[in-house]
Amino acid sequence: MNEEILRNIAAIQERINNACITNNRDPNEVKLLLATKTVPAERIKLALQAGQTLIAENKVQELREKYEALKEVPHTNHFIGHLQTNKVKDILKYNVACIQSLDRLELAEKLHQRLQFENKTIEVLIQVNTSYEESKFGVNPDRASELVAQVSQLNTLKIKGLMTIGLFSAEAEKVRRCFRLLKTIQQQIIAQKIPDVAMEELSMGMSGDLETAIAEGATIVRVGTAIFGQRIYPDSYYWNETHSR
Ligand SMILES: *Cc1c(COP(=O)(O)O)cnc(C)c1O
Repeated sequence: MNEEILRNIAAIQERINNACITNNRDPNEVKLLLATKTVPAERIKLALQAGQTLIAENKVQELREKYEALKEVPHTNHFIGHLQTNKVKDILKYNVACIQSLDRLELAEKLHQRLQFENKTIEVLIQVNTSYEESKFGVNPDRASELVAQVSQLNTLKIKGLMTIGLFSAEAEKVRRCFRLLKTIQQQIIAQKIPDVAMEELSMGMSGDLETAIAEGATIVRVGTAIFGQRIYPDSYYWNETHSR
């Protein structure tokens, strides 16, 4: 069981390396983020002790539950789930370095208010709904640069790039279109030269499609299943919960 996690990490790193070689990219440009939803702290710890440094949860509740157990092992926390505005105060307690799922102005404003009060800043990625599916979170691609410009006015939020969850499809070309769209949006935003906006990170690609994402320019791939095994909850539980917008 324990060795399995380490073997899986090695296999993923091999896939990342191969994809980089195929696409003439430097493997150091692509960070591996471990998506740890439903994974107990003890198993996450094994990955951290094996040298992994970047992990992310989808729910504030899981972040809270695992926080104490993981505190002793050095690592960086990102957040990749749908964030409700009533959880803003809570999420800031757990040392999250980057919220990758910022997808609406209302949430940005709530975060900014609270961060000002606490005299803190936080890194964010703007989540874009590149598959245009109703069920997926993320700002509409046509509104992405507008949201970036609005968020850039809030000086506690440091924009570092974009994030997307691609289409779930066995057809690699349809998935590729999502990732390519995120890259196109990144280029458009860079061309706009909006002050205080960095566009260095493209967080895209998961267990099933990381090669496609790397080919299209991913700098962060988010991997869960291929490292920790199948989850008992369907992803809809995380991606499609009832929420207030
Ligand atoms: C669960 C999750 C992942 C990882 O997906 P796998 O298919 O298990 O690798 C990536 N990104 C987000 C936002 C997730 O919720």
